[in-house]
Amino acid sequence: MRKIVTIRTEETVPGPEVVLQAQGLPPSATPNDQTLALYRAAISTYLLLSQPVAMYSQISIDDFRSVFNGDGANAKDAPLGHIYPRSDALALFAVTVGETLTAEITRLFETNDFPAGAMLDSVASQAAEMAAACVEREYLNDLKDSGTNADATATLPFSPGYCGWNLSSQIPLFHALHPEEIGIILSESCLMSPLKSISGVFVVGPKEIFQFDDKFDFCEDCQTRSCRARLAAIRSSA
Ligand code: SF4
Repeated sequence: MRKIVTIRTEETVPGPEVVLQAQGLPPSATPNDQTLALYRAAISTYLLLSQPVAMYSQISIDDFRSVFNGDGANAKDAPLGHIYPRSDALALFAVTVGETLTAEITRLFETNDFPAGAMLDSVASQAAEMAAACVEREYLNDLKDSGTNADATATLPFSPGYCGWNLSSQIPLFHALHPEEIGIILSESCLMSPLKSISGVFVVGPKEIFQFDDKFDFCEDCQTRSCRARLAAIRSSA
């Protein structure tokens, strides 16, 4: 199962709360008029310039092994290493909000318009996350239509460079998925272009395979602790 997914821009517009929190505003704080005006201007630019597109490709546990292992640099306790062998289904994915938007962010910074640049950068990052959620839903719907995930009860995305999965695994991931078909290329240092792109693997399986803590060495530098909210959502889902 392999698919290129065109995503409607309107599906990926992040609300002010998530964008402003990403910029460091505490959840309890009320943004001032100037900040809200910057947010609205960034959303207008996003709607004009973004071109969200994604793809996924299902992969077997055996074939994923070499993608996960990469050049052998993963952390010993990387949670994904314990999770994927017990999954029901796996799919590599890549998603981007496009090069035109990235170029506009660069232009704003280069012309010293830092407030507008930083706001558009945050909007684009959150939008890319929302685009990834769109392709995850598409993959799950396709799985259900094919009748192959009868036992699956939860899904979690993982990306190289996070949670102990070494960034160098981008190389085998790109060899297996070919995200260049949707305009995403990989640099020698394993960074994606356009910059506002996300790649990784969707892991589908029983809830119990996704339980792990956040006390690994590699968690010390983690700013988001995003696994906590995701695992809580899995635990509370029906
Ligand atoms: S705390 Fe951060 S690095 Fe550690 S498992 Fe959770 S998301 Fe990954």
